Amino acid sequence: MNKTLNGNFGKFGGAFVPETLIYALDELENYYNKIRGDRDFFREFNNLLTEYAGRPTPLTYAPNFSKRFEINTYLKREDLLHTGAHKLNNCLGQGLIAKGLNKKRIIAETGAGQHGVATATVCAFLKIPCEIYMGSIDYERQKLNVFRMQLLGARVNKVESGSKTLKDAMNEALRDWVTNINTTHYMIGSAAGPHPFPTIVRDFQRVIGEEARSQIFKSTGTLPDAIFACVGGGSNSIGLFKAFIQDESVKIFGAEAAGKGIETGLHSATLSAGRPGVLHGSLSYLLQNSDGQVEEAHSIAPGLDYPGVGPEHSYLKESKRAIYEGITDDEALEALEILAKEEGIICALESAHAVALAIKKVKELGKGSTIIISLSGRGDKDMQTIMNSLEAKNEQN
Ligand SMILES: *Cc1c(COP(=O)(O)O)cnc(C)c1O
Repeated sequence: MNKTLNGNFGKFGGAFVPETLIYALDELENYYNKIRGDRDFFREFNNLLTEYAGRPTPLTYAPNFSKRFEINTYLKREDLLHTGAHKLNNCLGQGLIAKGLNKKRIIAETGAGQHGVATATVCAFLKIPCEIYMGSIDYERQKLNVFRMQLLGARVNKVESGSKTLKDAMNEALRDWVTNINTTHYMIGSAAGPHPFPTIVRDFQRVIGEEARSQIFKSTGTLPDAIFACVGGGSNSIGLFKAFIQDESVKIFGAEAAGKGIETGLHSATLSAGRPGVLHGSLSYLLQNSDGQVEEAHSIAPGLDYPGVGPEHSYLKESKRAIYEGITDDEALEALEILAKEEGIICALESAHAVALAIKKVKELGKGSTIIISLSGRGDKDMQTIMNSLEAKNEQN
């Protein structure tokens, strides 16, 4: 039995879930409605963002990159947040919700392990037992992150079903949630999943855009001409975009993973190459074959490797308020190298997609424009992948 709650983003969103989950989603929505205007909740949340996570993150002017591409570039430095990426913002917020709802246990899904590590971090700090679901292929590929989660006290469950990756880990976590609905909070890691998750996750990531907006005003006295972020499930991007959506003069760009090229089928460019469908409880763009079967996603960036995307992005695409374009693995690698050599900043492979799209758009925006790029995370986690890819490229040449 499926029940559809309000689709919040045009025709996209909703809650296409089994009856048993409706209770938990209602409970979550009611609690969230109570706290979203509550000063005490946000005082505690903001306090953790400052004292524990290290906010505000800087907005860094990139002088050499700006000179090279003749475009004034500011970097929103989520790579400097505790645990090295923006995901902690959302986990701290949801951790406080779980505590407020008196949940005794938190579960989460993870692909590459980034969301698992952020979840395990918050659970250690808030003293809530934590179980992470991870596809067995990802488990083997991401041994170091598995160890991090375990070191932080989390239990990591290997998922052997389906393609043994993120999509299947998410299915398994939803199954666990159905079984343990009274005691357990499901900490979803991106602005995706059934209502109210896309709204809650966005609201906890809004701090990225709100800080960036006031920081750019302070630096330049005006709004940027364009903003850029990478889109996996869509949380760092919606977090940045939200503060600028009302500013009509600001162009908004989302970089999807075009992997080895959209024509090869090996990509995660959900908005560029997918069609609307239901995955993980919401209606949004989706990579699917002609029978409606969900297709495997591919990206060199583990955090972009997801066949779905948050529903608000589908709405922003169809309303044309934001433009989404694919960036290939090679383009992302090249952008990562450029940023490293120009600015001394090694960003995550995911974030490098946003950098690459910005470089592509210089001509269209015009010389001397001002832009903000979300550096969603740091590149330490990607060193082995980058090394292997650059070695393979050198052998080819
Ligand atoms: C997980 C991750 C992403 C993608 O997730 P979104 O929800 O789309 O933001 C991007 N960058 C980094 C560094 C990540 O870890």
